[in-house]
Amino acid sequence: MSEKKAADLGKPAHARDAGEVKRWHREADVVIVGCGGAGVCAALEARAAGAEVLVLERAWKGGGTSAQASGQLYMGGGTPLQKACGFEDDPEEMYKYLVASCGPGADAEKIRVYCERSVEHYHWITGKGVPFKPTFLPVEVGTDPSTDDGLSYTGSELAYPFCEIARPAPRGHTAQQEGENAGGMMMDVLMGHLAPAGVEVVNDALCEPLIVDHDGRVAGVVAAVGGEEICVRARRGVVLTAGGYIHNKAMLERYAPVTRRVRFRLGCDGDDGRGIRMGMSARGDAIRMEAACIVVPFSRNRQFVKGVLVNAAGQRFCAEDLYQSLLGEIGMWRQDGRIYLVLDDALYEKPQLPTEILAVGESFAELEAEAKIFPRGSLVHTLETYNAGAARGEDPQFRKGAGWLQPLATPPFVVLDLSLEKYPFWSAFTLGGLHTRPTGEVLDPDGEVVPGLYAAGRNASGMPAHGYNSGLSLADATFSGRLAGAAAAKASR
Ligand SMILES: Cc1cc2nc3c(=O)[nH]c(=O)nc-3n(C[C@H](O)[C@H](O)[C@H](O)COP(=O)(O)OP(=O)(O)OC[C@H]3O[C@@H](n4cnc5c(N)ncnc54)[C@H](O)[C@@H]3O)c2cc1C
Repeated sequence: MSEKKAADLGKPAHARDAGEVKRWHREADVVIVGCGGAGVCAALEARAAGAEVLVLERAWKGGGTSAQASGQLYMGGGTPLQKACGFEDDPEEMYKYLVASCGPGADAEKIRVYCERSVEHYHWITGKGVPFKPTFLPVEVGTDPSTDDGLSYTGSELAYPFCEIARPAPRGHTAQQEGENAGGMMMDVLMGHLAPAGVEVVNDALCEPLIVDHDGRVAGVVAAVGGEEICVRARRGVVLTAGGYIHNKAMLERYAPVTRRVRFRLGCDGDDGRGIRMGMSARGDAIRMEAACIVVPFSRNRQFVKGVLVNAAGQRFCAEDLYQSLLGEIGMWRQDGRIYLVLDDALYEKPQLPTEILAVGESFAELEAEAKIFPRGSLVHTLETYNAGAARGEDPQFRKGAGWLQPLATPPFVVLDLSLEKYPFWSAFTLGGLHTRPTGEVLDPDGEVVPGLYAAGRNASGMPAHGYNSGLSLADATFSGRLAGAAAAKASR
């Protein structure tokens, strides 16, 4: 890669040779880069395993994107919260669902480990003091982050084909907090354990690049602290937990051009891909870099699930009861971000979606003409076919759940424009990252472990890849962080 191209993606282009280090300013057994959800959990588990741990965080305070989150964690397999709300679940059903929904190319090994330990992870998180209220938010209400209910469906478990692949269960566990910032509360609770456990956190410490021994082992990291460069030695391992790359436009252009088109980017300033690039510069492989959570939130008003989504050619392209992030992915990847929602007067109610009305008509033909949807007759055919099935209580084309089926029969009819250009609520964050084992060990392009290097959270390619379910990123970050911290602590010096 030329110097220019490397710089375009942001620093660091090269790892530093340990032979060039004149002085090690600091050292610890395990050095953790970034104090978000993955970083704090890595630190706590490394410390619990007896390691001396140092956390380096570029911001003035830890928390990262995890502290901005709604505090939903995808957990299941029979957690106490699921039981308290009257739901049965087991690790095998959860595994079948996640493998089916996180594909293609889902990391079955990571999913297996997580499903088997998800109940234990729930106990670990609650044991640290993160509360979950034992109440269920019904699916008819949807995922409403303004309530403090603990459990809800945050994926497509009830929708076809997933409902036939695995027994559905709600697995979205939302930390208890009135309002929308349960992630901030969760991070404060977790970070509150660091100092008492004896973990030192250095804030305002921007890490780059890694320091690598002559034999390829990662030996430490360079950090800019208070304007001064320091070299930090890691006796056992460096754990990269520096988040994703949604704020690095050049990386998006190269690895995820579809995601680049989504304007509302979900992430803290630190999500600039530095951690991933650091890992790559030490021979770490980056995989599934095109994967992203792309959300088109159209169904907070659940009535709208009873509407009909069509593409630019007036055809349906999926069942409307699929989860909003799966719809977002399908809408971006397969429909070029051009999707429209058709409602009748019975469904068109307040609160309305803040977007343009593309067309209004007393009949389907009038609607189609006003919306200028071609080929002529396509939208009319789509709606008539949908109505005929809905009247029988079935959707032979996409098998939308019977509870959401209702013919569009009350004029006037309306087409709402949900396309990327017009609807401002499309949002995204990246899911691709360093190739790791479930233990967090980073792998090179040959599948060999890069000694001394671990990664977790959005710095790695984890459980969530395609077909995102809400809560899976925080679940993956906290769990993969724990495993990476524990593995690094046990590594030989
Ligand atoms: C508004 C919003 C709501 C969301 N809600 C949810 C939800 O409810 N459930 C869910 O699963 N997901 C949710 N997400 C996504 C989720 O929050 C993130 O994907 C997840 O928290 C990432 O965790 P992480 O530990 O990998 O990264 P982060 O939490 O972002 O931590 C990375 C840390 O590394 C630091 N850092 C970065 N580079 C460096 C460097 N070079 N040197 C030192 N430090 C560095 C950063 O400052 C940051 O503190 C939401 C996202 C947003 C924006």
